[in-house]
Amino acid sequence: MSNLIQVHDKFFEPYLTENVIQEKIREIACQISADYKDKRPLFIAILNGSFMFSADLFKYLPIDAEICFIKLASYKGTKSTGHVITAIGLDTDITGRDVIILEDIIDTGKTITQFLPQLQNQQPKSLKIAVLLHKPEATVFPVDIDYCCFSIPDKFVVGYGLDYDGLGRNLPQIYRLKEEGA
Ligand code: 5GP
Ligand code: MG
Ligand code: MG
Repeated sequence: MSNLIQVHDKFFEPYLTENVIQEKIREIACQISADYKDKRPLFIAILNGSFMFSADLFKYLPIDAEICFIKLASYKGTKSTGHVITAIGLDTDITGRDVIILEDIIDTGKTITQFLPQLQNQQPKSLKIAVLLHKPEATVFPVDIDYCCFSIPDKFVVGYGLDYDGLGRNLPQIYRLKEEGA
């Protein structure tokens, strides 16, 4: 098939087109706007993967809203704390705010599950999660997702912000890994 693309050593096939993605994000933006009208929500976008999703969602919102961008760094803590995730760049006070986290993809749920308590500690008025992609079959740590654009099978995807070893983020649509021999 000619519409395959190669990223590093692997081949990917078209999965979600630019139109399908944009349509869905407009729909989710519409829901969020209705839910947060006059609340001036604060979006916290988790880099790097969510940069395209965040930019598109944010520009489709017709309400007053703020956005900040953070990175999550993961390191080995003490014996009792295990693996620790910290937020880099969260310089906005979220106490008493209506917060919506923007993530590219929830796979096992581990990253978000480790990070949420840190935000909850700061006592936001409300805390919700909006994701571009969710892989329900891959769940290890169940997460309550408030706004989900697409639930997808447990297959590796790239494009629209998501990378395979640093490449593929610039693709305007989403591709999924082609099965060997398929
Ligand atoms: P979790 O902690 O939920 O298992 O994984 C979250 C992170 O794993 C995502 O933010 C993303 O960086 C990476 N990830 C999980 N599944 C995929 C995938 O299918 N494609 C890409 N490019 N990254 C993924
Ligand atoms: Mg992510
Ligand atoms: Mg990645």
